[in-house]
Amino acid sequence: MKPGVKPAPVSKDAKEVSRLLLGWYARGHRDLPWRDTRDPYAIWVSEIMLQQTRAQAVIPYYGRFLERFPTVSALAAATEDEVLALWSGLGYYSRARNLRRAAQLIAAAGGFPREYAAIRALPGIGDYTAAAVGSIAFGLPFAVLDGNVLRVVARVVNDASDISAGRTRERFRAVAQQWLDAREPGHFNQALMELGATVCLPRNPLCRVCPLAACCRARQEGTTGQVPVKLRKTEPIRLSGTLLVVRHGGRILLRQRDAAASRMAGFWDLPAPEDLPAAKLGARIGEIRHTITHYHYTLEVRSATASPTDGDGFRWFTIAQLGEIPFSTTARKALHLAGIVYKL
Ligand code: SF4
Repeated sequence: MKPGVKPAPVSKDAKEVSRLLLGWYARGHRDLPWRDTRDPYAIWVSEIMLQQTRAQAVIPYYGRFLERFPTVSALAAATEDEVLALWSGLGYYSRARNLRRAAQLIAAAGGFPREYAAIRALPGIGDYTAAAVGSIAFGLPFAVLDGNVLRVVARVVNDASDISAGRTRERFRAVAQQWLDAREPGHFNQALMELGATVCLPRNPLCRVCPLAACCRARQEGTTGQVPVKLRKTEPIRLSGTLLVVRHGGRILLRQRDAAASRMAGFWDLPAPEDLPAAKLGARIGEIRHTITHYHYTLEVRSATASPTDGDGFRWFTIAQLGEIPFSTTARKALHLAGIVYKL
């Protein structure tokens, strides 16, 4: 529902879905650290981290992030490198940059906005995050729509429309909005997302334990394996390359990505052979794989000797320093493979 739009009358079925979902959620759900708070800052950080990332992977990052930046003001005062260093490994780094920029705007305005439109206007916040933060922190009656919610809605109403089409998403958003209990929008949204994450699974939905089984049309009509439908699939792009582990006197040689790079600008990475034409290549250490969106990387990891001095984008780091810099995930995986372990 957009601000200013009059809500449609809520049907009996919608009320039933809402009642069943809230009852199920109240009986128990995963104990995730961001569920214990109404602090909009903490909820916002968790929602940004959870975009494209599994809850279990987010937990340690969330704890470290809030320990280092416990308030919006603390985040607003941090340097970009400090924020990126803590985000290293989570991927999709524009999320971290936007988080810091938004924190500066919030701190300058004197506090977290309490209205949907103002939350939505912050950098890096779309409809989903504005609805999640607004409903959980401030009780604003806006239904969230993410991949989990799309799947549940598609199955409950048994609608085989393409969920990558904008029109379908808007229609499904209206269904979720109809279901939403305006007295408990935060719990309702969390319940719907929890159902999608733990019960209404993409491949094998656990219909036998689902609170919505009695009102789910896909279940009744035996089509849970056919909905939701997503037509627009991106073809995978496979890329390969080599990363060099260059060590000298307990230090590691890293190369900084160009400030104008399209991805991960300013991040530190292991050099490739083409970065160090004079390097002497040593033994093959192994191979790592990394996937980001539809890009699938296969990278060979080799030891090498080279002796560039600091400068021209290269720098030698001690192992202890590695946890304090923005550092690419592929480099972390490669160092792990080489047995080089450091603390975050
Ligand atoms: S009954 Fe099955 S398909 Fe329907 S919402 Fe529940 S888990 Fe999903």
